[in-house]
Amino acid sequence: MKVTVIGAGLGGLSAAAHLVQGGHDVTIVERDSIPGGRAGMIDQQGFRLDNGPTVMTMPDLLERAFNAIGCEMRDYVTLKKVDPMYRAVYADGSELKVLHGREAMAEEIRRFANGREAASFIEFCNWLERLYRAEMDSFIDANFDSPLDLVKPWRQGLALLRMGAFSKLDKKIASFFKDERLQRIFSFQSMYAGLAPYEALSLYAVITYMDSVQGVYFPEGGMHAMATGLAKALEEKGVLIRYDSPVTRILRAAGSHGAVTGVEIAGDERLAADAVVCNPDLPVAYRTLLGGVDAPRAARRGKYSPSCVLWVAGVKGLPPSEAAHHNIHFGHDWNGSFKALIEDGVRMPDPSVLVTLHSLDTKGLAPEGCSSLYVLEPTPNLDGTIDWSRERERIVGDIKNRVSSLGYPTDAVVERVYDPLDWEALGMERGTPFALAHTFFQTGPFRPNNIDDRVPGLVFVGSSTVPGVGVPMVLVSGRLAAERVNEYATR
Ligand SMILES: Cc1cc2nc3c(=O)[nH]c(=O)nc-3n(C[C@H](O)[C@H](O)[C@H](O)COP(=O)(O)OP(=O)(O)OC[C@H]3O[C@@H](n4cnc5c(N)ncnc54)[C@H](O)[C@@H]3O)c2cc1C
Repeated sequence: MKVTVIGAGLGGLSAAAHLVQGGHDVTIVERDSIPGGRAGMIDQQGFRLDNGPTVMTMPDLLERAFNAIGCEMRDYVTLKKVDPMYRAVYADGSELKVLHGREAMAEEIRRFANGREAASFIEFCNWLERLYRAEMDSFIDANFDSPLDLVKPWRQGLALLRMGAFSKLDKKIASFFKDERLQRIFSFQSMYAGLAPYEALSLYAVITYMDSVQGVYFPEGGMHAMATGLAKALEEKGVLIRYDSPVTRILRAAGSHGAVTGVEIAGDERLAADAVVCNPDLPVAYRTLLGGVDAPRAARRGKYSPSCVLWVAGVKGLPPSEAAHHNIHFGHDWNGSFKALIEDGVRMPDPSVLVTLHSLDTKGLAPEGCSSLYVLEPTPNLDGTIDWSRERERIVGDIKNRVSSLGYPTDAVVERVYDPLDWEALGMERGTPFALAHTFFQTGPFRPNNIDDRVPGLVFVGSSTVPGVGVPMVLVSGRLAAERVNEYATR
């Protein structure tokens, strides 16, 4: 089949790879001049600054996309372990390093807390491993046609029930660790799914597994290299990637009713296709490319993840000696911070921030004597109460002062700020780059599906459909989208 993929985000690129594997003739049409979408890059004055995902986990899922087109990932992307994966700095001044390797991490926990907590860490890892195995094949790497599909893999469902996967995440984590600081470092990952640990189900501890147990990696050349590497491999395999080509409409037989017939580019050119895979944010795609078809209810009325303010900068100077690649500076309050962000829609009173220093252990990302700085503060999305057009300057000023007071160099040569209004302008619903939150009823068969019976031949890919948000999930969504196209081709 002739398949057009709209968007060269990691979801679109993964879909293209799995489509090539299925024998389809694939063209990617991307509005920007580089691949990667959210996994973008600012290349200026000797700085190469990632402006999207920063924590890379589950490299085998990226490898699977390369393997789908008969390539080896190592020929295109060189990964190295980030170790320590995180330096957690708590408000009381204590510091914990999250290390690769269970024994090394247990030893660090013994130093930081005590032997009982260290032993609990090993039990925790065993539990996470079982949780991941029960979830991956049946609930994450799977398409859904109805909620009943949740019940079919009943053995895995029962296993999850027995493991306490449907209890609340904060309680489950507290059943392993007494130390509140350890509870934080092993549950904050629920934020990646848009949820507070007190509202998330323990099912989502699987993100902690992907992150703190399976390990954090960094591609040489920056996170963006995942996308450029995969795009290069696809082009070598004959996939045409057309950059600077915004799709303005998805074309359908019988005007606005029949099966898809291709896409319209920049308002004039028509590109014919038998199937279209759509990578832009799903609610935005319904609104702007599919005039007349309402987005699914969850996308229109659902609960969206919190957003963030991101400040990326190329700065003069080097970080303090104690700094690590990823530094999480926790505020005092914990549940109060989530309540502010998620329930009240206001800024955290005592914000936690992530400071990532990609240039710390990777050459070529900043000139000699300079550093790359990536600072992310979670904020409410545009459903919150902050008027970003008025508050942006003050909030960004606060963030810069905080980062400076933590000892990082902040004298910027190159800089760029993204707030929720910027994310919205880039095409992200409610101004969040993290899509619909992963509440139970916005996950699996309840998340906007990757197909829509009303538009035959259209398949969605990316973080706003199944399985969900984050680099590992959008890579999986590419495989699932290709499976849908294969089903369509043989219907
Ligand atoms: C600041 C930030 C931090 C993050 N941190 C992490 C992290 O640490 N770890 C992690 O795993 N994930 C993280 N994420 C999330 C992760 O980056 C995303 O879930 C993932 O990259 C989304 O990929 P996607 O393919 O779904 O969408 P996108 O990357 O948005 O791809 C969509 C593509 O479609 C293109 N497009 C849109 N409209 C059109 C059109 N009309 N015509 C043609 N092309 C179009 C876009 O230009 C883009 O290339 C982060 C994201 C951000 C922004």
